[in-house]
Amino acid sequence: MTIGILGGGQLGYMLALAGYPLDFHFRFLDPSPQAPVGRIAPRVTAEYTDYEALDKFAHGLALVTYEFENVPVEAARHLAKNVPVYPPPQALEAAQDRLNEKKLFQRLDIGTTAFVAIASGAELDAAIQELGLPCVLKTRRLGYDGKGQWVLRSQDDILQLKKDFPCAPLILEKFVSFTRELSILAVRGRSGETKYYPLVENHHRGGILRLSLAPAPNLLPALQKEAEDAARRILEALHYVGVLAVELFECDGHLLANEIAPRVHNSGHWSIEGARSSQFENHLRAVVGFPLGETRALGHSAMLNLIGEVPKPAELLAVPDAHLHLYGKSLRPGRKVGHVTVRAESAEQLSVRLKQLPSFFQREEFCLSTGAGCVAK
Ligand code: AMP
Repeated sequence: MTIGILGGGQLGYMLALAGYPLDFHFRFLDPSPQAPVGRIAPRVTAEYTDYEALDKFAHGLALVTYEFENVPVEAARHLAKNVPVYPPPQALEAAQDRLNEKKLFQRLDIGTTAFVAIASGAELDAAIQELGLPCVLKTRRLGYDGKGQWVLRSQDDILQLKKDFPCAPLILEKFVSFTRELSILAVRGRSGETKYYPLVENHHRGGILRLSLAPAPNLLPALQKEAEDAARRILEALHYVGVLAVELFECDGHLLANEIAPRVHNSGHWSIEGARSSQFENHLRAVVGFPLGETRALGHSAMLNLIGEVPKPAELLAVPDAHLHLYGKSLRPGRKVGHVTVRAESAEQLSVRLKQLPSFFQREEFCLSTGAGCVAK
């Protein structure tokens, strides 16, 4: 069986690695001739809007999925005329526009921060009046890793922003004073069977995910249930098939949904070594129509992203149960080039192992001071 994947980055790379033991074959489509999957699978280099290339790509495929959430919805719909496409294109549509996403949360009675859509700079003052400061202005589309976002705390911030006002549909959100950021990975199969991974605690620097702790430290069953309930409503509303990530803020012991990603997610990488079945294997099981794998955590894990640079492998791998994943990408500042997962039997043991990591990881940007502190609590 050959599975087509739109997007050829590290998520696609790890999907293929999880699929080979099941005897799946893969074909990728990505506009970049440098897409890392080129090392391990046939890759078509074409724009997502090139329908002739899409048709050629889809020929003989059992199904198509994606690892990149900004694939044009029309491209997914075009492919769906001839081959099953999972998750369904309406999930892409919901996730690509922050306003649609927020309205979906509201419709499903899932808590989210107050927001106002903004069509032009002239509407900014009224929206700020309504929500109050501080607030966050975001582009509705194509923002990622903190790009396309402006935190407004003062009149000065507002004046500064107005000097160079972004020319795109926008959404203004009330700033959430969260206790911590969490995410839940959920998976739904073609038969409607669903499973949930434990909530994960995420730490960012410069808008980029640096550290995930799985399961989230001090995770109460009620919070896990609240997250599963929210994820379940989204999966069912979208007739979803595959892995879905829901990013959340914990606030006063409850959850507010921030956004969804209709694909495998960076905050689920720990599951390769840290769960009974990885998010990558489960995504494939779901889209193919196989029974889903167990999602239980195997002890405690920390996942650290490698951004623009990599440690000396031998030093890192000397730490017990430390695992290195390199994506085969050239090193560039700000680029996710790999990740490390450290696994342990208990939170205490994990905390000890994180302190044993080489000095490369003991810098502020890896968030280990906050993260390791959380683990040890
Ligand atoms: P996003 O692109 O929506 O995931 O936002 C990137 C990061 O900005 C999040 O991980 C949060 O740390 C922060 N952030 C986003 N929206 C808000 C908000 N409404 N209030 C406070 N922080 C936010």
